[in-house]
Amino acid sequence: MTFVTVFIILVTVFAGYFTRLLTISGAAAAFIIGSLITLGLGVKGLIILGLFFGSSSLWSKIKSVKKERAEELLVKGSQRDWQQVIANGGLAAISSAMYYYSNDFDWVIGFCICLAASNSDTWASEIGSMSKGRPVDVKSFKRVARGTSGAVSLLGTSAAAAGSLLVATGAFLLLHLELNELLFIFILGFCGNIIDTFLGAFVQAGYQCPHCGLKTEKMIHCGQNTRLIKGFSILNNDVVNFLSVFFILVISLLLSGAN
Ligand SMILES: [Zn+2]
Repeated sequence: MTFVTVFIILVTVFAGYFTRLLTISGAAAAFIIGSLITLGLGVKGLIILGLFFGSSSLWSKIKSVKKERAEELLVKGSQRDWQQVIANGGLAAISSAMYYYSNDFDWVIGFCICLAASNSDTWASEIGSMSKGRPVDVKSFKRVARGTSGAVSLLGTSAAAAGSLLVATGAFLLLHLELNELLFIFILGFCGNIIDTFLGAFVQAGYQCPHCGLKTEKMIHCGQNTRLIKGFSILNNDVVNFLSVFFILVISLLLSGAN
């Protein structure tokens, strides 16, 4: 890892901080993740990370009235803190470091799948929340408010597929992969988003405001503590994102090992 690369990572995370895409803790976490990715995969790894970070940041800057209402349900805004950064990039960084130590190419594919899954999930939420119709909860099959975790829409699901495909295609071109590896990354990245949706519907913490009745992921609303009405309090959105990437990484390593 050269001084120049470290400098590029530093400039990027500072830019992320000053453009309010990252909090200060998010910038610190992004620096560590960027460094670990460079260690195993060099600048090409950073570019693949950049595809995820750049495209999801771009979508998060596109606002609409529907999206603002959807964000009312979420705990955090578009400025990412360390927990969100680790939930989305932590396992990709670990995969890159594992490749550095083991030289086993399965970790490179795993790295790409982690980022494809995170990109898939981010595109699904950022674009899906602008959907015309309300999404359908995969547990109750009822229409729920836009931005609800565990709910799907045609727009969100298409965005999830496109988000995974972007990372898979970027990796295919940069890392000179085989076509079947592109497909493997694309499909598993998309499946990562499906796991995220099901965890979101069945186990993720959901709260309701006792004052206004809003169903939200926030623990405080209208100045009062909200009540847990579904899932487990420990399983917030960041933990669910991390777990879904973790599960899809394990599945990818099992499937690669079987070949
Ligand atoms: Zn309220």
